[in-house]
Amino acid sequence: MTRSRGTSRCARTAWRASDARGSDLTAAHEPLCEDRIVSCEHCGEELQAKALEEHKNSTCEESPLGDVDFCGETVKRRDEEAHLSASVAQHLRLQRASFEEQLEKVERTR
Ligand SMILES: [Zn+2]
Ligand SMILES: [Zn+2]
Repeated sequence: MTRSRGTSRCARTAWRASDARGSDLTAAHEPLCEDRIVSCEHCGEELQAKALEEHKNSTCEESPLGDVDFCGETVKRRDEEAHLSASVAQHLRLQRASFEEQLEKVERTR
């Protein structure tokens, strides 16, 4: 899940806004925003905003791998090994099904 750039607000700005009347968000937005500390929505680890995307894509153990696995399940990075070994049969079935589908297409065009 990617979040579009430019929607994040400086933590300080957000706090001030929720304390006060929520005015002037854009004007108070600081260019140093990328250095603010945010916490990962998946594992709660605190890190710099600019490192968050990288963290979620590579090191976050709680972050789901992509959207859904091709078997239809959402698998977290730390569960990948377990999921792969638990679902071998199912994965093979799915792979065979898509393989046969491809084969059919190829044969039809011959
Ligand atoms: Zn995380
Ligand atoms: Zn799977």
